[in-house]
Amino acid sequence: MTTRVMKFGGTSVGSLERIRASAAIVAAECARGDSVAVVVSAMAGETDRLLSLVRSLGFGLGDEETDVVLSAGEQISAALMSMALSEHGLTSRSFMGWQARIRTDGPPGAARISGLDASPIQSALREGCIPVMAGFQGASVNERLRTLGRGGTDLSAVALAAALGAHCDIYTDVDGVFTTDPRIEPNARRIGKISYDEMLELAAQGAKVLQTRSAEFAKARNVPLRVLSSFAEPGQSEGTMIMQAEDIAERRIVSGIAYARDQARIALRGISAESTALAAVFGGLAEADIGIDMIVQSPASEKDRANLEFTIDRRDLDRALVCIGESDARDVLSETGLAKVSVVGLGLNRRADVARILYGALGKQKIGIRTLATSEIKISALIENEGVEHAVRALHAAYGLDGADG
Ligand code: ADP
Ligand code: ASP
Ligand code: MG
Repeated sequence: MTTRVMKFGGTSVGSLERIRASAAIVAAECARGDSVAVVVSAMAGETDRLLSLVRSLGFGLGDEETDVVLSAGEQISAALMSMALSEHGLTSRSFMGWQARIRTDGPPGAARISGLDASPIQSALREGCIPVMAGFQGASVNERLRTLGRGGTDLSAVALAAALGAHCDIYTDVDGVFTTDPRIEPNARRIGKISYDEMLELAAQGAKVLQTRSAEFAKARNVPLRVLSSFAEPGQSEGTMIMQAEDIAERRIVSGIAYARDQARIALRGISAESTALAAVFGGLAEADIGIDMIVQSPASEKDRANLEFTIDRRDLDRALVCIGESDARDVLSETGLAKVSVVGLGLNRRADVARILYGALGKQKIGIRTLATSEIKISALIENEGVEHAVRALHAAYGLDGADG
C-alpha cells in the first residue's frame, strides 16, 4: 500500500467551502486504497493577519512569542480539516507540530527541522485514522514553538513524507509548476516533469509555488514529489512531478523564468579588501540566517580597499544593516524597490547567447539592468520593481517558452 502525504496550502483551505473541497480530494485518495496523512497551511491571509497584530505591538518575525501567534493559523485549519473529513465518514485527528514530534533548530521565524519522530503519526495510520498535521511549526529543544519560515508548510509535508517513506503531493491553486508564474504570463505552460535541481533553483529565485527549503529537503531525501491543483475535481489535476534529472528523458535548456520582488541592494564602499574582513561580513549575515545573492566585488580607489555589493530580501534589510554595522567600510549604502528576474535551466551553460538574449529582451522593453549575475544554471538581472511583470513576459517569449511543450 502506498502512503501519501497530501499538503493543502492557504487558498486550498481558505474557506469552509475550500476545506470541504480539499477534504473530498482526500476522501477520493483514501477510496483508492492509499494510506493518507494530511498537512495543512493556515487559511489564506491568516498568517499575514496574525503578523500584522504582532507588528501593531512592536514585535516582528524573529521573536519567540511571534511564533506562538503565527502557528495558531495552522492549528485552526488542521482541526477544521479533521472535522470536514468526518463528513465523509472518515476517522481523523489533528496533530500540532509538537505532537508530531517535529524538532527544530535555528531562530524563531526561520527554524529548520532537525528531527521528526513519526511514531505518533504512524500509530494513527495503523489504526485507520487520518492524521491531519498543522504545517509550518515544530518545537525547539527547550520546548518553545517555532515556525519554519514563510511557505514552511511545504517543508513540514516533505519532512513528514521522508519520515514515513511516503509520496508527497502538494495541493495548491495552480495545476502544477509552470514555465513562469501563470498569474503574470497567461502563455506560461505546465511542466509535466521537472528535476529537483531545476525546481530548487526556480524556488530559490522566487517561484513561490514550492518553498526553497522543501525542495532542498526533497532532493536530499529523494522524496517523490508532485505539485497539483486542489481546484480540479478529485483525480483530475495533472500537475507536475519532481524527480531526479536522470529519470527525465527530455532535456530542456531553459526550465522557466522566476522573479522575486522587494529586493534590497547593499553597497559597502571602501571595505578592507582582506579576505578575513569580507568573510566576517558574510559570516555575520549567515549567522542571522539572511540569504544573500548577486555579490559583486570590485577594487576601491583607495589602496587595499574594495567595494562590495550584494542583494538581500527587503524584509531582511534592517537586520542586515545591524550585522554590517561592525564592518570597517568607509560608507554603507542601501537601496530598495528592486526586483530580481531569473532565467533558470540546466542547459544554460551550454548556450553562449544566454546573456545576449537577456540584454536584448529587456533592452527592447527599456528595462534597465542594475546588476547581472550568472551561475551554471541561472542568469539573474536586478531591475526596478515596476518593471517586473514586463520583464517576466519579455524573457518568457525571448527564451522560447511561449508555446513550449510541457
Ligand atoms: P499555497 O498557498 O498553496 O502554498 P502559494 O501561493 O505559496 O500557494 O504558491 C502558489 C502560487 O505560486 C501560484 O498561485 C502562482 O501564482 C505562484 N507561482 C510563481 N511561480 C510559479 C510557477 N513557476 N509555477 C506555478 N506557480 C507559480
Ligand atoms: N501559513 C504560513 C505562511 O503563510 C505557512 C504556509 O502557508 O506554508 O507562510
Ligand atoms: Mg506556499
